Amino acid sequence: MSIKSGYFKKHLHVDLTRGNAERLDLSETFIKKYIGGRGFGAKLIWDNLRKHDFKIDPLGPDNLLVIAPGPLTGVYLPSSGKNSFVAISPATGLYGDSSMGGGFGVELRQAGIDAVSITGRAPELSVLLIENGETTILAMPGLKGKNCLEAEGLIKERLGTHAVHVATIGVGGENMVKFACVNTDWSRNAGRTGIGAIMGSKNLKAIVVRGDKDIPVYNVAGLVAENAIAFKYMREHKYFRMWQQEGLMNVIAYANEKGILPSYNFKDGVFAKHDQINGATMLSGYKIGDSACFSCPMCCGNICLVKNGKYAGTVVEGPEYESCAMLGSNLGIDNFAAVLSANRLCDELGIDTISTGGVIGAVIEGYERGILSLADLDGREITWGDEEAILGLIQKIARRQGIGNVLADGARGIIKRWPEMDKVILHVKGLEQSAYDSRSSLSMALAYATSDIGAHHTRAWTIAKEMEQGQNWSDDEKVDIVIYHQKVRPLFDMLGVCRLPWIELGLSERHYANFYKYVTGEEASLEELLERSNDIYNLTRLINVRLGTSRKDDSLPRKVWANPPLTGPTAGRIIKQDDFNRILSLYYQKRGWNEDGIPPASLERKFEDWAVPAWNEHR
Ligand code: SF4
Repeated sequence: MSIKSGYFKKHLHVDLTRGNAERLDLSETFIKKYIGGRGFGAKLIWDNLRKHDFKIDPLGPDNLLVIAPGPLTGVYLPSSGKNSFVAISPATGLYGDSSMGGGFGVELRQAGIDAVSITGRAPELSVLLIENGETTILAMPGLKGKNCLEAEGLIKERLGTHAVHVATIGVGGENMVKFACVNTDWSRNAGRTGIGAIMGSKNLKAIVVRGDKDIPVYNVAGLVAENAIAFKYMREHKYFRMWQQEGLMNVIAYANEKGILPSYNFKDGVFAKHDQINGATMLSGYKIGDSACFSCPMCCGNICLVKNGKYAGTVVEGPEYESCAMLGSNLGIDNFAAVLSANRLCDELGIDTISTGGVIGAVIEGYERGILSLADLDGREITWGDEEAILGLIQKIARRQGIGNVLADGARGIIKRWPEMDKVILHVKGLEQSAYDSRSSLSMALAYATSDIGAHHTRAWTIAKEMEQGQNWSDDEKVDIVIYHQKVRPLFDMLGVCRLPWIELGLSERHYANFYKYVTGEEASLEELLERSNDIYNLTRLINVRLGTSRKDDSLPRKVWANPPLTGPTAGRIIKQDDFNRILSLYYQKRGWNEDGIPPASLERKFEDWAVPAWNEHR
């Protein structure tokens, strides 16, 4: 069946060095095979790597940055405001991506664009303006040093309108901090894998989008009927109201109860004062409003205000679980106002809250264990819960001052400078670990180890299921669920929708196959769509293998093998190397990769066509 609707079939390719842009046609074969979002991004990155014989400096001008919503982005259906940023990551040197909510991707669709790819480097700090598919590159050197929120305001002022969406970097991105993020709508971030540093390396302060086109939908009546069922299901779910009230903040209590809450740089899985930084605390004195991405009834964003004390006046959209855990319990902070302040500072400076909490936690433990000296810390001691020193370190990282210059290079840079820090910093492939402790969950450990972008929970989040199953879960079941998550989750990113209605409320993924059918007119079953998303997981593996990844890299932080949590329900648990090696081999076997984690050479043939045929001529 052919694609009848749902796309504009346009790809905008911008060369910042030459200062020009081309509007290219996307072929139907490409659209069907790669769907959108992360799928379009992975294929364009693969082609760009082929063009450059797989030799790309992540912070060099040839690294391609792809921004792609999906065919469902901007269509009225549950939680359809997602958009992917894809590139070779400066943190890992491998495939990287991060998805952003809010309204930026919706506006890109309304501008008539299905994908933007950006190469080169502008001669001075610039802003890329996309208006209904037409592009202008504006030199705006005056934005240098402005934080994300300020820059968004100044750009809107310069353009004389608020009717645009702006994705911007802060000081962290300008300074190419390897975990810099891209911020939109004042607080929604493409946070992981250092996409903000790539924009910084291209002298690209912001991308501004304005569009007023209707997004094409093939079968409106079918879409409306499917929506009625899906929205009703969500509204009537027993946890729907809790999600609206607390968003992801409800996870703090759950993670503490299960012993998987990062505390004191993952020295522990419980935090004695967790109730001072949890959802109930937020609701009792801080939350002043909700925020949501496009068309999302779950509205998981919390707008908080600190009313009293030394952080009075701090307003932030957040925190959500990851930010609160990594900047709170992981650093020994039990003052919710200080967590809000740290979260706000990271948003302003444009650095990822998970990685920031990870590297600062490692510094505190490194100093405690004598790995780092007072001189390494620029003469200022730091201990657990030391709010002032922690806020100071966040500033230093974004500005690359003193020790901040090393920390800004992330886990790999820290270990290169101080090899003993490998004992305390948690990362996989160079990406700092998310806020779920995997030492009591072999499936979660496998998920982190085999994730294409490094230790990030959104690739496969299996820990809750394993907690429910206890010890009665076979290796086969653990591997199967990791692979299933790695199959279904790319599909959400490819379609341009949020995964939370599915993972948190149990909204069936079959609805999304139906949404795809009604929007595009292509009669593809869920199973067929999952085959395409599985192809994307294989493609990103091929990218990583061509960049040097093998079994040795599908590994875990040293702490996960060696240091169990000290107290709580997971005390004493570690991942045993024999157990891990056994399950990793089973994973490779089920994936059809060899014992070293290498897919068969024949797999590359699936991706030998060129997304942009003209790129082949560059070879
Ligand atoms: S659940 Fe939260 S992150 Fe997902 S679309 Fe809704 S508001 Fe955005």
